[in-house]
Amino acid sequence: MQYDVIVIGSGPGGYVAAIRAAQLGLKTACIEKYSTFGGTCLNVGCIPSKALLDSSEHYYNASHTFKTHGINLDNLSVDLTQMMKRKTEVVAKNTSGITFLFKKNKIDSYQGVGSFKDKNTVVITKADGTTQEITGTNVIIATGSKPSSLPFIKIDKKRIITSTEALTLTEIPKHLILIGGGVIGLELGSVYARLGAKVSVIEFMDSIIPTMDKSLGKELQKVMQKQGVEFYLGHKVTGATTKGKEVSVTFDSPTGEKKELKGDYCLVAVGRIAYTDGLGLDKIGLAVEERGRKVAVNDHLETSVKGVYAIGDVIRGAMLAHKAEDEGTLVAETIAGQKPHINYNLIPGVVYTWPEVAAVGQTEEQLKEAGVKYKTGSFPFRASGRAVASGDLDGFVKVLADAATDEILGVHIIGPRAADMIAEAVISMEFRASAEDVSRASHAHPTYTEAFREACLAATDNRPIHI
Ligand SMILES: Cc1cc2nc3c(=O)[nH]c(=O)nc-3n(C[C@H](O)[C@H](O)[C@H](O)COP(=O)(O)OP(=O)(O)OC[C@H]3O[C@@H](n4cnc5c(N)ncnc54)[C@H](O)[C@@H]3O)c2cc1C
Repeated sequence: MQYDVIVIGSGPGGYVAAIRAAQLGLKTACIEKYSTFGGTCLNVGCIPSKALLDSSEHYYNASHTFKTHGINLDNLSVDLTQMMKRKTEVVAKNTSGITFLFKKNKIDSYQGVGSFKDKNTVVITKADGTTQEITGTNVIIATGSKPSSLPFIKIDKKRIITSTEALTLTEIPKHLILIGGGVIGLELGSVYARLGAKVSVIEFMDSIIPTMDKSLGKELQKVMQKQGVEFYLGHKVTGATTKGKEVSVTFDSPTGEKKELKGDYCLVAVGRIAYTDGLGLDKIGLAVEERGRKVAVNDHLETSVKGVYAIGDVIRGAMLAHKAEDEGTLVAETIAGQKPHINYNLIPGVVYTWPEVAAVGQTEEQLKEAGVKYKTGSFPFRASGRAVASGDLDGFVKVLADAATDEILGVHIIGPRAADMIAEAVISMEFRASAEDVSRASHAHPTYTEAFREACLAATDNRPIHI
């Protein structure tokens, strides 16, 4: 078969690239090695983790906050089997949705491992070992990433696990030891903490979610501590071993003191690494970068081989589903002769703990380092009528604006529905709004988004109304 575009991998990068290419009239194929489409995101990432976060949040609220609303429940218990079954159904709904979209857009899909024979020919090796060749004028590498570990820790997938296994546990851990205080670890740690597990987080850096604005990590740590999670920051893990059902994790304190924690599960969440195994990059003269094993691309996301592009987790930049999607669209449109653009500065980052954390643009630390003169405006949710009504009082909105022009340079939110609220900040910044522009726009009352308006008022000339 001869195609205009062959996409290898059907994660959010790959499937969006395939759909956009097909919309633009390009004959398109997508190859996926697993039996379901959707990649990490739909199968073992964003979607199942959010399903479990939602379920566990319901339980947490039922057991902790319902009483204050005048709702009394007796004999509350968790049915983990049902919770996991629901999660599996949520995943199936989403992955079958991609099958439907491929059919609707007349995209040919192939199940098997795609491997380059040459820059225009991809060999597909199916589960039964048979092979098939297809050719394409353009090939898009969208093979994503896999969990990484520490060199001295062996993941046994039973007691020492990655995020993938953490999404399918058959029991609630008694004590979950979490290595890594980043997004994925904190989300999955939250799930089990809400269900009653003791959760200990060991993080090498001196704050959790260390790549985000420092104020967010500080506040999130405070709130998660209230929820019972314990933190060892600035601590360096030196080993993790199992003995029967017991896991032991050893680590050094910042002053070099040797420590040990014993639990029944250890979740290693120290990041992800680009995945190119079996792709045959050497056949087309492509090598991966030493650090992170990423595929190098230019501004149009084309590799050094003409007509071969790469997108998503397998290339530089944030490992996020929406970044992969945006890049899938960009490459499809580039192949079709358009001149698309991505503003990488405005890709939001979200942590689905409760309260949620969401941010876009520059952090205060980045502005300081770049010597940019800026103003800060903050508004706490405890002063928001909507937040008082729902009882979600933790967190704040922080707006950073240019000192001279008032243009919004960064928005950092920790609070209820921050994941949804951040969209307003992204759009405002795409249109290069000033903090005053946002504060002069009407915001429905009572909503959490009023806190963004108030933080903008505070940034413009320190005149919030409600504090
Ligand atoms: C627990 C967890 C939670 C997450 N939550 C979020 C979130 O809330 N929001 C967010 O934005 N991001 C989240 N992420 C990150 C997100 O899942 C990734 O950034 C995203 O999936 C990357 O998309 P991708 O298309 O680049 O690759 P992937 O989704 O990894 O897809 C790559 C696909 O390529 C296939 N493949 C690989 N090699 C071959 C080959 N040779 N032939 C055929 N097929 C191949 C793989 O099987 C896979 O299906 C989460 C990740 C994890 C692990």
